[in-house]
Amino acid sequence: MKLSNEKIMQFLHKTDDAELFAEADRIRREVYGDEVYLRGLIEFTNYCANNCYYCGIRAGNTRLDRYRLDKDTILDCCRAGYDAGFRTFVLQGGEDPYFADSTAGDDRLCDIVSSIRGEFPDCAVTLSVGERSRESYRRLFDAGARRYLLRHEAASPDLYRTLHPSEMSLENRMRCLYDLKEIGYQVGAGLMVGAPGQTTDHLLEDIRFMQKLQPDMIGIGPYIPQADTPFGRSSAKCAQGLDKAQKLQLTLRLLAILRILFPYALIPSTTALGTIDPQGRVLGLKAGANVIMPNLTPEAARANYTIYDNKLFTGAESAEGMDLLKRQVAEAGFRIVTDIGDVKCH
Ligand code: SAM
Repeated sequence: MKLSNEKIMQFLHKTDDAELFAEADRIRREVYGDEVYLRGLIEFTNYCANNCYYCGIRAGNTRLDRYRLDKDTILDCCRAGYDAGFRTFVLQGGEDPYFADSTAGDDRLCDIVSSIRGEFPDCAVTLSVGERSRESYRRLFDAGARRYLLRHEAASPDLYRTLHPSEMSLENRMRCLYDLKEIGYQVGAGLMVGAPGQTTDHLLEDIRFMQKLQPDMIGIGPYIPQADTPFGRSSAKCAQGLDKAQKLQLTLRLLAILRILFPYALIPSTTALGTIDPQGRVLGLKAGANVIMPNLTPEAARANYTIYDNKLFTGAESAEGMDLLKRQVAEAGFRIVTDIGDVKCH
């Protein structure tokens, strides 16, 4: 379906969302029925060489206990996840020098990926470890990774520069996304809603960029300040300064627009959505999301993956809270399935 710029702006600004959410729900049910796919999130390292102004695991944050999980611990997480019905494992982390884009770093990561694939051949491995060379993405693909999450963060060069230090570039981020696609990964792009300096014009630019990229997965969630980051420290002064309710509303509207424009996309109802509102994740599903990513990371480590403040990692957010999660999802009119949950053809 096509939506004009005017129509998208109307949807983003309008106060009555009933029509928008109903259309998004109709489309997701047409393609995916009432199925909700699970991804087991393993936050395997909080070391990061980057210094994104918004992110709590940025290199410059010294008020954080750093950790990285070893292969055996990661495999244990997968075993527990498999028993609980997970058929996709998402390895997410900072741009950790130990796993860096180098022969040694690639070897370490490839070994983890191929060990997971070897033990769980009926499962998919998704990586979310940031920007790397095309050769590195290729090696990880050859090791068995088939999906890659790399939010583009901002399609507007100006906004991208506001959010990142000068050594990071939108150009390289885009190069990575296109390399991943060409290699054959299912690719996920996305952004934070309500990031400092972001306007709805920027969101429109993001939508148009994603229509060119045609990602298989789209991850969006509200920006949430983290006190030990440059933006967190100055959050009161941040340009747009949306409050939690406004961020929730805008995220849900964007989710619904994305479902309408990308009927086949796998779209998670994110932890950040659940963090700003107790009903956030269920509302996300009702607005068109069809994926949930409970946390399989060992509890002691989870507490240090503080990309933003008050990040949820217990209750229905955690793998241990599966019964609660299933109940919440059923109450919203959907059904969690034990399935690898691949994207349906475009
Ligand atoms: N290093 C990888 C990368 O850059 O893609 C993956 C880890 S990174 C922490 C995962 C995502 O967390 C980012 O793409 C960003 O959108 C999100 N994130 C970071 N800080 C956040 C914040 N303060 N609020 C909401 N989301 C945030």
